[in-house]
Amino acid sequence: MIVALDGPAGSGKSTASKQLARELGFLYLDTGAMYRSIGYLAKEAGIALEEVPAQAEKIAHIAKDAHIEMKPSHNPQDLIHVWCNGEDVKTKIRTRDIDAYASAVATLPQVREELVKKQQEIARSQNVVLEGRDTTTVVCPEAQVKVYLEASAASRAFRRTLEDYPKFSHLAKEDIENSREYVGILKEIEQRDYQDMHREVSPLTKAHDARVIDSSNCSIDDVVSQLKALVQNAEKDAYEAV
Ligand code: C5P
Repeated sequence: MIVALDGPAGSGKSTASKQLARELGFLYLDTGAMYRSIGYLAKEAGIALEEVPAQAEKIAHIAKDAHIEMKPSHNPQDLIHVWCNGEDVKTKIRTRDIDAYASAVATLPQVREELVKKQQEIARSQNVVLEGRDTTTVVCPEAQVKVYLEASAASRAFRRTLEDYPKFSHLAKEDIENSREYVGILKEIEQRDYQDMHREVSPLTKAHDARVIDSSNCSIDDVVSQLKALVQNAEKDAYEAV
């Protein structure tokens, strides 16, 4: 059984996918962490962000040789453990700097080719929940459950602001929305959405047969319940088809 989820940054995909995988006993594959790891390695190799397109071949080699391992922690709210070429990069790949590097290396067709190969090998060997931008359209279009999780840019920026600045949690919604931090995060999210949706190779799109779930006004638990119902239906369909 393959469960594939796509959607923009901050839509709650990662938390919902991790929780779903844990409850179903499936493997969880965070394809974004793979692009982040390659972005991190490119930066460590001394490549400046604006040089990424010109260094496509070098970065594709980095991606080909990269050995990326991941393991979710027990609590789905926590960051997933990621080791890249043996180095623990769990927190190093979650910086705003690496957000931008990941999005930049993800525009390179050679890098996508290398990572999609690795993702397909993993996904086709066991029951899996995988998530990203192209898992329903390119990596596993054959997935039995395909979901596009969306949420307004404003609600995603709001969540990210609270994650990055926990001290804001006692402020009124309006004060958070007027803060410099929120305005900056909203701008970055809109830029990343634009880049993800308008790149030439595998742009973020809704698969024609994906179920759309909007998480702007619902909790992660609600999203997971909806996903579980879709998995149960897919299992029933598969059983009836035999
Ligand atoms: O999901 P996450 O925000 O961790 O992904 C980091 C970046 O990697 C995204 O902004 C996107 O550009 C890229 N990505 C991608 N295809 C995927 C997963 C992530 O292009 N399947």
